[in-house]
Amino acid sequence: MSRTILVFAESRSGSLRRVALEALGAARRLAGKDGEVHAVLACFGGAAEEVAALAARGADVVHIADDPSLRAYAPEAYIAAIGAAVATVRPDAVLLGHTSMGRELAPRVAAALGAGHIADVTAIEDSGDDGGDVGFIRPLYAGKAFERRSFVPGRPWVVTVRPNNLPAAEPLDAAAGHTAAVKELPFTVPPLYTAVRGLVRRTSGQLDLAEADVVVSGGRGVRSAAGFEPLHALASVLGGAVGASRGACDAGYCDYAQQIGQTGKVVTPQLYIACGISGAIQHLAGMSQSRVIVAINKDPDAPIFGVADYGIVGDLFEVVPLLTAELQRARA
Ligand code: FAD
Repeated sequence: MSRTILVFAESRSGSLRRVALEALGAARRLAGKDGEVHAVLACFGGAAEEVAALAARGADVVHIADDPSLRAYAPEAYIAAIGAAVATVRPDAVLLGHTSMGRELAPRVAAALGAGHIADVTAIEDSGDDGGDVGFIRPLYAGKAFERRSFVPGRPWVVTVRPNNLPAAEPLDAAAGHTAAVKELPFTVPPLYTAVRGLVRRTSGQLDLAEADVVVSGGRGVRSAAGFEPLHALASVLGGAVGASRGACDAGYCDYAQQIGQTGKVVTPQLYIACGISGAIQHLAGMSQSRVIVAINKDPDAPIFGVADYGIVGDLFEVVPLLTAELQRARA
């Protein structure tokens, strides 16, 4: 089965977001050997690095919408750019990351296309033979259940993929001689109803939580903002990011931008280390799909141990520095 797939290549500060490469990987598999993978980039002032990354990882055509209206995120302009790509490519499916941007854009793209929409996909089951039934797996009820959803034939698909779940498109062998066509994408800028006047970064320079392979999270058990320092040290040794429970955010120990859970961010790192977090259902909603969960809690009955792969019953202020020192020693 060959398909034509369009990927929205979300980028930030001149670099592709990792989920864009994960969507590209899914697109390559769904397109099949004889299908086509197109990517659409929204930018202002060029996007050479992103184009090179997409081309190297198997995009057949990269469509570049380059316009001042796309300098900062404006949904109306982004929708117009994606709409122009859809009109040009006429894809069987449009894939986006399940990010703040993707969550806003995807339903609008689906509505404009009269297409079905499946959101927050964590796995794709493609029999690869007749192409009839592609199953899109998505978690429900804060990860307590999964559903397998398919599209009915005859209409395009719009899918968002959850960051950190699907394998990213690998760079192709240069010797194989793959080249991507790069095309300017003209589009009509619609009236913009809102404008970004400024951007204030709240989490200085730390890895994007949703894309981090390792997340070290602290809860109310960390007791203060200063109490997060050992967690930062551990995250730094592991090349990870620091998250928090809402309990810790409400107590003012850290910024709400770091909150993980039902009303915060959803993360699926390779390794999630929960320190002084009880494991309320609303917190689990944001991290229970992590590959490996380590919980450090001094209460042996804390619910977090119910989802943990490894549990350490102990005082986080003793355990975390020990872990950090041991990892540093192992890495030296
Ligand atoms: P606590 O429940 O107070 O747990 C602290 C833990 O630290 C305890 O288990 C304790 O044993 C342990 N501890 C204390 N000292 C130490 C030590 N020295 N060493 C080791 N362990 C120690 N919560 C979220 O996290 N994310 C959300 O998105 C979210 N959304 C919500 C939405 C709604 C509508 C509602 C009602 C609640 C939401 N909550 C959310 C709040 C959630 O219900 C819990 O209140 C919150 O997760 C508790 O945070 P906590 O685990 O840090 O604190």
